[in-house]
Amino acid sequence: MRVRQIPCLGDNYCHLIIDEETGSAAIVDPANGPKIAAVLHDEKVTLTHILCTHHHWDHTGGIPHLLDEFADLQVVAGAQDAERIKGTTLAVLDGQRFAVGELEAQVIDVPCHTRGHIAFLFDGALFSGDTLFVAGCGRFFEGDAAQMHKALNLRFAVLPPETKVYCGHEYTVSNLRFAQSLEPDNPALRAKLLWATAQCEAGHSTVPSTIGEELTTNPFMRLNSPEIQAATGATRPVQVMQRLRELKNAF
Ligand code: ZN
Ligand code: FE
Repeated sequence: MRVRQIPCLGDNYCHLIIDEETGSAAIVDPANGPKIAAVLHDEKVTLTHILCTHHHWDHTGGIPHLLDEFADLQVVAGAQDAERIKGTTLAVLDGQRFAVGELEAQVIDVPCHTRGHIAFLFDGALFSGDTLFVAGCGRFFEGDAAQMHKALNLRFAVLPPETKVYCGHEYTVSNLRFAQSLEPDNPALRAKLLWATAQCEAGHSTVPSTIGEELTTNPFMRLNSPEIQAATGATRPVQVMQRLRELKNAF
């Protein structure tokens, strides 16, 4: 399995998942149809799947173009977002599995940013959309803090620490600045902010991360940190999550 990152629309990332054994490919969250089509021609792979983490236009805007240009596409979306994603052919539920070439994907339901937001887990790689960002998380547009806590800390945190995290946006530096305001003495955070700043200044991506790195740097996955509990004035996980989101929105 190989993943090619396609930057779109300023700060969105679309990820092309290629099964090198069969030449089949899946695109996660196609924001820009023509740009993705050009990459597909360049790679000489066969697009078989469009994988939608959620219905927002900056993750689905390229679908009509791809449906026009490529035949027999499976368009996969979470059951609760599917009616808002035109062209969906497969509305999936938590735990559902499907194949891209010889790769196996598993659906993880993570409602909150939207009520039908899902993540896709491949062997060693999580495609987290706008639920988990590097050092941050998505806004709670259609859900609440309890749901985001479940998604990040009960569903994602238990994945093997080396699992790569491919998210939907390049928000890393501002997320890390917020994180550092809460935990100024966290050495992993300081190192990652230096690295991410240099990456961005050089025009490079900070994605993917790993689950292990998120556990040491992402405040939304560090609800037990004494500094974070002090900064939020809360100790119960859902309350810490809620306060963190409010503080980040105002940061
Ligand atoms: Zn979104
Ligand atoms: Fe987005």
